[in-house]
Amino acid sequence: MARVRLENVTKRYEDVTAVDDVSMAIEDGEFVTFVGPSGCGKSTTMETVAGLTRPTEGCVYIGDDDVTDLAPKDRGIAMVFQNIALFPHMDVFDNISFGLRLRTYDDEEIRRRVEQAADIVQLEGMLERMPDELSGGQRQRVAIARAIVRNPDVFLMDEPLANLDAKLRVHMRTELQRLHRELETTIIYVTHDQAEAMTMSDRIAILNEGKLQQISPPLTCYNEPTNRFVAGFIGSPSMNFLEGTLHEDRVETPNFDIDLGPDIVADAAVGDEVTVGVRPEDVHLAEAQAVSEPTAPIDAQTDVLEPMGDEIFVYLLLADDVQRSMAEEPAAAAGQLLMSLPPDTDIREGESVEVVLDRSRVHLFERATGVALTHDVTGHADPDSGPPATEAE
Ligand code: ADP
Repeated sequence: MARVRLENVTKRYEDVTAVDDVSMAIEDGEFVTFVGPSGCGKSTTMETVAGLTRPTEGCVYIGDDDVTDLAPKDRGIAMVFQNIALFPHMDVFDNISFGLRLRTYDDEEIRRRVEQAADIVQLEGMLERMPDELSGGQRQRVAIARAIVRNPDVFLMDEPLANLDAKLRVHMRTELQRLHRELETTIIYVTHDQAEAMTMSDRIAILNEGKLQQISPPLTCYNEPTNRFVAGFIGSPSMNFLEGTLHEDRVETPNFDIDLGPDIVADAAVGDEVTVGVRPEDVHLAEAQAVSEPTAPIDAQTDVLEPMGDEIFVYLLLADDVQRSMAEEPAAAAGQLLMSLPPDTDIREGESVEVVLDRSRVHLFERATGVALTHDVTGHADPDSGPPATEAE
């Protein structure tokens, strides 16, 4: 087990900055997921921890040691990748024990470790099978067992579930959580799938264009995103965004005003251009009286409905859009605001409705920088100055 620390890590490839001044501390035994869109620098950041890539600037620490210049094999890490390379001519036992044989453990010790690892990933009874006799999930478990037997201080996993079908992926998520609980080892996990990140991690590190945007527990990222990027990336379907102008106690958008109350905005001035963010589940029918702090009712017309079984997604056209839509360009005006309703709601397409937003759950972002204004912004990711604060909760 070990703490991992990145200190001002930057990695440049000619004209691409893959990782841009990233600092973070991952605690001993913590499960931290790097998440972000393709090309945001997740894998490169992890490779600097693995020793597969040397940072252009900055340092990497594992435990108390500066490992920036150490070879991967000397770092006490084990890696599991998306493409599982099992030796096809070796059975499960030999695949799992392969790395141990290179390290010349005696046979008894090897058998003990392999059986223990196979037990943890529930492969007992399958040690004599060949890889082509295994399912995709079982092969991935062999790869994980191969990492476990090395008894690493830190597990590094880069999209290990990406090649599995959807159902198996969900199952393996649970297995990885169980594995983490049993081993109590530090795990760094890379994925582009925010649902995977949300369900498994102690904390999520969200990256964009090589920069760390936020590192916080999943629900903190969801409820208190530090900037517009995080707000839009975490949560599916995505948060609604509306452009507006800040007044003393309200935000004026092209379609409606949102009254905020006097002291909600700490860091902005009257007249500032802001972006309002509200999640689909925080938009409600006014008649439902579902929230204690509703905004004034907003006139809208329902457009497309998407019944999902456990909820209904309703695309709303706002007042101005309704007129525009009736004039000429329905498609251009559609999707102004997405609302999520309980599955038994009686609602039809093309209906006129009044909706309210849950005022306590409205997010505000400074338009120019995307920085969140609604919450305590100490520790937010400011794109222009220094790395974001590391939030250890
Ligand atoms: P992610 O894992 O988030 O998809 P990567 O860390 O793989 O992103 O890549 C981050 C950026 O660095 C991308 O723009 C990618 O094209 C670039 N990059 C990664 N590795 C190399 C390399 N060896 N040479 C040049 N550019 C690279």
